[in-house]
Amino acid sequence: MNVILLGPPGAGKGTQAKRLEERHHLVQLSTGDMLRALVASGSALGVEAKAVMDAGRLMPDDLMVQMISDRIDQPDCKDGFILDGFPRTAAQAEALDEMLARKGLKLDRVIQLEVDEEALVERITGRFSCANCGAGYHDTFQRPKVEGVCDSCGGTEFRRRDDDNEATVRARLEAYHAQTAPILPYYARAGVLQGVDGMAEIEEVTRQIEGVLGRA
Ligand code: AMP
Repeated sequence: MNVILLGPPGAGKGTQAKRLEERHHLVQLSTGDMLRALVASGSALGVEAKAVMDAGRLMPDDLMVQMISDRIDQPDCKDGFILDGFPRTAAQAEALDEMLARKGLKLDRVIQLEVDEEALVERITGRFSCANCGAGYHDTFQRPKVEGVCDSCGGTEFRRRDDDNEATVRARLEAYHAQTAPILPYYARAGVLQGVDGMAEIEEVTRQIEGVLGRA
């Protein structure tokens, strides 16, 4: 099963993708994570990506399409994948359709995480993750059970994304409205779009997504 999670930054795409990955043997393909790995590599392209991400702008379509195409060709994607953060523009959505057709694959569902945007800035600026295993936490909504110790792996180092500050979050929300939200009608017309309540508890959102996937 091949699925897209769509929604503004902070809607919970990454959190839900990780949960689905564990439960359904799907692979999470997060273009944001791929770009952060590129930044960490220190390459020239990584330096460029960091500047774009810190400004809350989007990376070029052709680069992102190539990145996803190469990743889908890896053997671990053969049972299906969850796209998290891609496509983000109409050009990416069209390129994805062509790419999947060429590879003999299809898109089963596009799940829109519907959220109250007023809540997003607080959600994003408070989030942090375990530096060792990537488990996600939040200053207000989800602190580790033991302060300073990761619930999942016992790690004691945590990190925050450079682009999770208020100014960049506002720019990312603008980019979402200008460039990403316009692709929703495209998927509605294709008959694959389904909405879920992204403001519900994490477990309830997962339950709703699983309901959608069960009907796919
Ligand atoms: P995310 O982790 O999905 O919030 O992505 C973090 C940042 O990476 C975004 O604000 C963009 O600068 C960049 N990025 C991630 N995915 C894409 C994409 N599909 N197209 C263009 N830029 C992207």
